[in-house]
Amino acid sequence: MPNPPPVVIHWFRRDLRVADNPGLWGAGRERAPVVPLYIRSEWRGSHPWTGPNRQSFLCGSLASLAANLETIGGRLIVRKGDAVRAFAKIFKERPVLAVHCNADPDPFGQSVEAALRSLCERSGVKFHVHHDVSLHPADQVLSQTGTPYRVYTPYSRTWLALEKPRPLGKPAGLDTPADIASLPLPVLADWHLPPPADGVHAPGERAARQRLKAFLNGKIQRYAALRDVPAAAATSRLSQDLRHGLVSIRSVFAAAMKAREAADAAGRANIDVFIKELAWREFYFAILRHFPHVLEHEFNADWRGLPWDEPGDRFEAWKTGHTGFPLVDAGMRELLATGFMHNRLRMITAMFLTKDLHHDWRLGEAFFMQQLTDGEIASNNGGWQWSAGTGADAAPYFRIQNPWTQSSRHDPDGTYIKRWLPELRDVPPERLAAPPRDGQPLAKGYPLPIIDHKAERERTLRIFGKHREATR
Ligand code: FAD
Repeated sequence: MPNPPPVVIHWFRRDLRVADNPGLWGAGRERAPVVPLYIRSEWRGSHPWTGPNRQSFLCGSLASLAANLETIGGRLIVRKGDAVRAFAKIFKERPVLAVHCNADPDPFGQSVEAALRSLCERSGVKFHVHHDVSLHPADQVLSQTGTPYRVYTPYSRTWLALEKPRPLGKPAGLDTPADIASLPLPVLADWHLPPPADGVHAPGERAARQRLKAFLNGKIQRYAALRDVPAAAATSRLSQDLRHGLVSIRSVFAAAMKAREAADAAGRANIDVFIKELAWREFYFAILRHFPHVLEHEFNADWRGLPWDEPGDRFEAWKTGHTGFPLVDAGMRELLATGFMHNRLRMITAMFLTKDLHHDWRLGEAFFMQQLTDGEIASNNGGWQWSAGTGADAAPYFRIQNPWTQSSRHDPDGTYIKRWLPELRDVPPERLAAPPRDGQPLAKGYPLPIIDHKAERERTLRIFGKHREATR
């Protein structure tokens, strides 16, 4: 039998699109047939950092990727298990000229890249890692003295001033050989997972592009005013798309800039606020890259070793949205029903768990990762440490949000609360924004507040204050 012709591999990881994909583009320029490869993980039942919502979105996005690849002459090849072993097997099956992939921002992904690089070197295969996940790699946004930023505002100033990269097109004529074996596309049953929440967004590159277009043609016009009003659902809802690389950050930025050119002064101001949110995403990527200890420890060393309460009934009440604090419960129920939670609610529920229930932020961080379709290690860790008061540029420990006043500020007529807690639909809004004075539940079956916010706030101030004294 003649030797099979050599191929080039593009390894898809969190870049599940054909448009503006630097790794796929690079593979397409190698003048050899391209094998678009995905390697499915092999755990079963439960995973500490993911769950049915994100995995089902991943499956749908892979199905859409497979169809999109066919339009440019490709065929998605699915393998499973340990990535380096899967590559070693392919290298034995046929000659491989080069492997391309886009860099992973997470330490685990980076360690796999390092192991794959060494396999490629041993096997005489070229290995190219492209930058894709952010507009600017972490090492590009540094202070004047060349050190990483620890605070968002100066980071964002430097970030905003840098020239932004433009999107690439999509490659053509991938010409994947017909004789390469592939497993079927992944399905939830492969991980023995139950069905996802009903409200998970439509997956795939086209759905993501439609969300971007709809946002820039509509909601962006009131983004600055409404982005903190959860009932208005006025944000882009692009986080799961950016997390899975269904649309590139360069395309999002370029589309926003195009909309900005056509906008009036008010429109431009809204788009500028949106762009600054994209900078938060990159700030947290940079924090994770330069300070990887945040995955295990508090960013701010002053707060390591805080005494947290053991998780028990109160943690269960928080997870299921039964704390008796309507806004907190509405946020958690939105998360359970849709795999998404509005940013304002992420802050409120995270601060409630850490400052009112005195639970370790790592517990909440992991629970969010299991539930969120957009679960992004860097942003989630950043958001949790911000809320706990332990992170980079975090809320200081003595600034503790009051979940009751947050209700009157961000959901004054109770629309958001009633959307997710239908049992409270007949309760007047003012009663949703204060502890019940009569000691009676707000509605049949709805719990009384499980704690007294004022007392727990005092306790947090004592715990943090004492810790500070002890570690000085
Ligand atoms: P928009 O307001 O439309 O913002 C546009 C994009 O900017 C988002 O899609 C996101 O990529 C980025 N962005 C916006 N705000 C932030 C922020 N504060 N930090 C980092 N990036 C931001 N975001 C995730 O993508 N994944 C997570 O796992 C995640 N966990 C979080 C946990 C906590 C405790 C907190 C407080 C925030 C977390 N965030 C996370 C940030 C933020 O809540 C979401 O990015 C946002 O709600 C997504 O909705 P959107 O796409 O409509 O946002």
